[in-house]
Amino acid sequence: ELILAIESSCDETSVAVIEDGKHILSNIIATQINSHKRFGGVVPEVASRHHVEAITICAQDALDEAQVTYEDLTAVAVTMGPGLVGALLIGISAAKAISFAHNLPLIPVNHMAGHIYAANLVADLQYPLLALLVSGGHTEIVYMKAAGVFEIIGDTRDDAVGEAYDKIGRVLGVPYPAGKTIDTMAHQGQDTFNFPRAMLQEENLDFSFSGLKSAFINTVHHADQKHETLNKNDLAASFQASVTDILVGKIIRALKAYPVKQLVVAGGVAANQGLREQLQLALQAEQLTDVTLIFPPLRLCGDNGAMIGAAAHVQWVKQQPLAGLDLNADPSLSFDYAADYSGL
Ligand code: ATP
Ligand code: MG
Ligand code: FE
Repeated sequence: ELILAIESSCDETSVAVIEDGKHILSNIIATQINSHKRFGGVVPEVASRHHVEAITICAQDALDEAQVTYEDLTAVAVTMGPGLVGALLIGISAAKAISFAHNLPLIPVNHMAGHIYAANLVADLQYPLLALLVSGGHTEIVYMKAAGVFEIIGDTRDDAVGEAYDKIGRVLGVPYPAGKTIDTMAHQGQDTFNFPRAMLQEENLDFSFSGLKSAFINTVHHADQKHETLNKNDLAASFQASVTDILVGKIIRALKAYPVKQLVVAGGVAANQGLREQLQLALQAEQLTDVTLIFPPLRLCGDNGAMIGAAAHVQWVKQQPLAGLDLNADPSLSFDYAADYSGL
């Protein structure tokens, strides 16, 4: 089975060809980062226009690189949400056109399910499992009792962790998206500021990052007012130490409440080296060594079509949910749309 998968929820236009949900025949990613950098974040209207320009080129490149044609395809999959509505609609329109012109079934995919299923491209997921979903818009702990069944057992009360990275990046003068640079700076500094670890001691699986962000920004502004210069690497290290303590603390709590064999870490922030190191150490320290830690490779952590194809495969096997040509974007799509997977 060959699925052509389209992703356009934010600032990457991406089209992939995936075989049997496992093999990446191609994964073309056109990033718009340079267009959004000077605004310090994604400008929705600019994103939509870039998607329009890039989408047909990406689709053709994906087919060419995979050495297949539309006639070889089994289905076409597309991100239907969550994301920017105008950006999503470009991918959806392209997918519908391909579906109609080549008489292919249309598979609507939840972007966040895609982030988790990126892991299935490098490991065989076994259920039940836990996923730590950390991205630009989401910070969630997801319990999957079976393929395609998602239960959010922990969530952020305010900012997403990637969003917090990008916001403190502005204060540090680091260009958008700031996560990767701050990660590098953090490895050259020390945790000297001891920022708060909100909700870490609370007996729940929820997160809060807005207090940390405010503490960080206030520290920098107070120093500015007094014409003091703070060590930026130490600021980055202190921020990252707080973030990783919180994420690791909560996921350990989750692993104790939900015994599983696999922990998937997914989303753009899963690329974070500090998080990868600290999670590994914590599993050893807590003697949770029978839990296999699965990180998608860096290239599959950020937004890409391959992860959408991997998630679409699960839906194709179940033959649900599939979509018609009336498919619409859902900018705030939750995991509920896939709830009727329970038989799997
Ligand atoms: P969502 O998936 O929630 O809709 P999104 O698609 O915008 O949001 P992703 O593309 O999954 O988010 O991830 C982008 C985020 O990942 C950005 O906030 C970026 O700063 C962050 N990020 C990327 N690399 C790293 C890193 N090494 N450390 C920390 N954060 C990182
Ligand atoms: Mg992006
Ligand atoms: Fe994403």
